[in-house]
Amino acid sequence: MKNRIQVIQGDITRQTCDAIVNAANTSLLGGGGVDGAIHRAAGPDLLAECRTLHGCQTGKAKITKGYRLPARYVIHTPGPIWHGGGRNEPDLLASCYRSCLELAEAKGCRTVCFPSISTGVYHFPLNQAAGIAMETIGEFLASHTLPAQVTMVCFDGTTKGAYDQALAELTKP
Ligand code: ADP
Repeated sequence: MKNRIQVIQGDITRQTCDAIVNAANTSLLGGGGVDGAIHRAAGPDLLAECRTLHGCQTGKAKITKGYRLPARYVIHTPGPIWHGGGRNEPDLLASCYRSCLELAEAKGCRTVCFPSISTGVYHFPLNQAAGIAMETIGEFLASHTLPAQVTMVCFDGTTKGAYDQALAELTKP
């Protein structure tokens, strides 16, 4: 199952795969960071489809087409804003990864790329977020054949280092 997860450094908007995940906000109407980059690369039709979705709760996910992106779908998930850890942030972050993987499976996606959800302007502690991401993805893959491959696309080296370490620490083979 570990061999179905990889960590790379790169720009998620350039990835050719069935679905990329967007670390969105609850409005689904665009923002900064990876959200802004995805909307810029996908073009205005993405925002038009997002307007029809009427937002999304933290920890849940909604899917759209990818438009001008090389990815067929975009799965939008609002991650939790870090408030110190006492507001269910870890469970909500795990729920983001699970909800995205469930949608990807339902759409028959073989390859899915994730950004580091919540560790940018939402300030979730990086090492903890990486551990939660890898545990949740690993658990899902252990009991589902789809997606076949999950890629964590890290924008910078520090982020890649955290996910590399979290993947190495996954106990299940
Ligand atoms: P959040 O609001 O969930 O914290 P951010 O977009 O602020 O989301 O940051 C999430 C992560 O996405 C950060 O590690 C940030 O460096 C990264 N990121 C920003 N742009 C891109 C991109 N084009 N591809 C992949 N990751 C990106």
